[in-house]
Order: sequence, then structure tokens, then C-alpha cells
Amino acid sequence: MAVQEEALHILFFPFLASGHLIPTADMAALFAGRGVRCTILTTPVNAAIIRSAVDRANDAFTGTGCPAIDIAVVPFPDVGLPPGVENGTALTSQDDRDKLFHAAQLLRESFDRFLADHRTDAVVSDSFFHWSVDAAAERGVPRIAFLGSSMFARACSDSMMRHNPLENAPDDPDALVLLPGLPHRVELRRSQMMDPAKMTWQWEFFKSVNAADQRSFGEVFNSFHDLEPDYVEHFQKTLGRRVWLVGPVALASKDMAVRGTDAPSPDADSCIRWLDAKPAGSVVYVSFGTLTKFAPAELHQLARALDLSGMNFVWVIGAAGGQDSTEWMPEGFAELIARGDRGFMVRGWAPQMLILSHAALGGFVTHCGWNSVLEAVSAGVPMVTWPRYADQFHNEKLVVELLKVGVSIGAKDYASGMEAHEVITGEVIAESIQRLMESDAIQKKAKDLGEKARRAVEKGGSSYDDVGRLMDVLTARRSSVKVGEDNQAS
Ligand code: UDP
Repeated sequence: MAVQEEALHILFFPFLASGHLIPTADMAALFAGRGVRCTILTTPVNAAIIRSAVDRANDAFTGTGCPAIDIAVVPFPDVGLPPGVENGTALTSQDDRDKLFHAAQLLRESFDRFLADHRTDAVVSDSFFHWSVDAAAERGVPRIAFLGSSMFARACSDSMMRHNPLENAPDDPDALVLLPGLPHRVELRRSQMMDPAKMTWQWEFFKSVNAADQRSFGEVFNSFHDLEPDYVEHFQKTLGRRVWLVGPVALASKDMAVRGTDAPSPDADSCIRWLDAKPAGSVVYVSFGTLTKFAPAELHQLARALDLSGMNFVWVIGAAGGQDSTEWMPEGFAELIARGDRGFMVRGWAPQMLILSHAALGGFVTHCGWNSVLEAVSAGVPMVTWPRYADQFHNEKLVVELLKVGVSIGAKDYASGMEAHEVITGEVIAESIQRLMESDAIQKKAKDLGEKARRAVEKGGSSYDDVGRLMDVLTARRSSVKVGEDNQAS
């Protein structure tokens, strides 16, 4: 009788931020649906963020023969952060951010213990845990890196780390700086780039991330071939790396309403009902992910812009909602919302995927976090791009210049969540929104791309096939390791 092969077991190890946890939980659902045993290792507060999504996936797998996804909950290291502060969203100061990164470092012990105690075929480790490349190697487990970025942005950051193009660039914030060695001519303003002279800590950190990813077994991307084909080739041929593009992983989510939260906004249901009453393609959705903070002067201009644009809008005022609205709300805005005919505000956690895929949606004002961009692409919704930091200026280039499914708001200054940004006027923001909503060419391109995204994850699509390729590689590796062990034993 043939011995039944034990299912492949992959350990997922996401960084302590919602933008990393959410696609990881989606990816686990995707792999579990293909018969892979998946465990997600994280700390209690972060486990709560993905628990509903994992429970819904497990409910959907009941009776299908697919293995249930486990969450291995490990203690959050004591680094002096207040109780309950375990991820990026809850941070309010640079000092706390440093502590969070220290805690991330200390998770090595729990990670190592897990690998010692469980048979694991691979680790899909967040690239931010750069030390996991050595920790996994010590246990003989292949590390597959996951940064949660676009391939394009990952290639841009790789170019920056290799060539440090700012070193010899003119000291003028508006100077255009070329990123060498990429398939396209990619230039950014100096002020839109991470400057190693000013951000020494971040620069060193990303160098370690880049080095660890280069030494990894391979890299998995939340993207799909048709979206950025030149960069797939760049990674494989120029950089000589093994890559698998398995996205958009959000399409594997089994319940869009609770994805990424244990506390959906009380406004969530009424928001969907409000959208139901709006004409197709008439609403702009405004949301900036889980980390981005706006100064009161910026919120003031954004509110003015939404009024000036004349468009219907849904505005998620999650993190910014903590601020006293009298500090930023322009005159007449509260009345505009109260009338309920043109604008709807969501306080707290919005069901973003449900909103983006609603027929009433016509545009998305986004900070260009990669999850948000790809979710918009999947839903066929074009974007007004308003990047702030991290990979966001790179993602903007991809959206506006390469894919041509967006209009840039013209943000110029790279500055992390805690720092001040230049205030963009309501007139400029409103004009970008109008240009996007009125451009048939952009709207059509976005719809076409949405269809390609959905096709990629269907059976026979490129992302579906890449999941299979990765499983084949890991299965073959398991057999060769076993042959090695058997030979040693005999
Ligand atoms: N998100 C959501 N509802 C919210 C805010 C955010 O569902 O009210 C989700 C969004 O769909 C995306 C993630 O949170 O999956 C944010 O990730 P992104 O990369 O866009 O931005 P980050 O928060 O990492 O800056």
C-alpha cells in the first residue's frame, strides 16, 4: 500500500504591522486551499488582527480535505512598550518605533524554538526579519523572503542599495535622480527618496534586508506576471533570483468584511448601503492604510478638496479620526456629511475590499501602500496617488507612468509617518480627483487590469501556476533531503 505523503508545511512569519499581517494571512489561505499545512507565527495582539480572517478560511476549508491554518501565538518581548502596543499602527513616537524594532529582533528565540520543535518545509519570512535567513539556515529550513512590496518597488530599492545614487546627485531637492540598472528609465526627485545621509538607521536596516533577501532560497511576491513582466525578468535574469508571483492574494480572502481586524467600524454596513444607492463609477474612496498620519492642516485641505471636487466620496478617517475634528474641519463640511447625499465618513476600520469592489466606485485616493494599490488593481479601480514614504513613491511611478492607471497628486517629500509633510492645497487635490474620474482612458485601463488580476489567480492563471511551481520545488527538496538522510543512516 502506498504511504500517504505528509502535506507540505510552511511557516509564515509576518512583521508586526497590519500591512504585512493581512497579505500573509491571505497567502496562508491561498496555500492552505492548495493542500499546504500553514502556520502563522506571531504575537497575541497581531494574532487577534488576523484571527477572524483565519477562522473564516478554516470554516471554508471544513470538509474539503484542506488542512486548517494554525496561528502559533508567542509572547511579545518585554521592551518597555505599553501593554497592547505590539504593532506599527499603535505607535506614537520614534522612541516607541525603535522599541518595536527591538522587539522584532528578540522574536528570534521564539522563531528558533518553533523550527526546533516542528518539521517545516519552508519559512515564508517577512524580509524585515533579516536575521531569519541565518536562523532558518541553522535549522536547515529554506527561507523564502516576503517584503509585501511590488516587484517594481523592490527592484528600485535594490538599485538604491547597490548604487546609492544620491551620493553624487546635486544637493537640490528638485534634482532628478536616476535609479541605475532597471528595465525602464526610472527617475525620482531627490526629495522623494530615502536619503542615507539623513536616515542612517533606516538605510542600514534596508541594506541588511536586501542582503538577507539575496541570500534567501527565493522570494515570493504579492503581484502577478502581467502587471510587471519586465521586473519578473529583471529578478530572474539580471539579479539571478528565484521568484514566485502568487497574487493578488487578497482575492483568496474568504470574508472581505472582517479582513484585517477584530473590530470592524460600526459604520461599515451603512457605508455599503450608502454605496448601493449611488450610480456606477460615481464615488471616490479615500483611505491611507494603517500607518499614515496627516497633520490637521493636511486634513483641512483634503476635506476642502472633497467638497470642491463635486464628486461623491467615502472617506475613512481611521488613525486621523483620533484628532479633534475642530482642529481641521472646514466650515460647512460637517453639514455636507450630515446631509448624506455626497459624502460618507467611516470612523475606524473600513471593509476596504468590499468598498473597492462595489459598482459605485470610480476612484481611490491612496498613499500607495502596496496592498491598497493591488486591491484597487484587482477591483479595476484607478487611483489618485499621494505617496508619503517607504515604497510608496516607487509604487506611484508604477501606477502612474508604467501602468497608466493613476493621476499623481504631486507629493514631493519623503517623510515617515511621524514627520511633517508639505501641505498640498485643496484645489490641487480636487483637480487630480476630477482628472481621474473624468478620464475614460484611465478608467478603461484599470478595468482591463482588474480582469487580468482576477484571471491570474484562477486555475491555469500565472499566479495559480506559480503556487504550484513553488509547491513542486519544496516537494522535490523534501525528497532530496530525505534521500540524503537515508543515505547517512545506511
Ligand atoms: N485596510 C482596511 N481597512 C481600513 C484600513 C486598511 O481593510 O480601514 C487594509 C487595506 O485593505 C490593506 C491594508 O489594510 O490591505 C493596508 O495596507 P497598505 O499596504 O495599503 O498600507 P500600510 O497600512 O501598510 O501603509
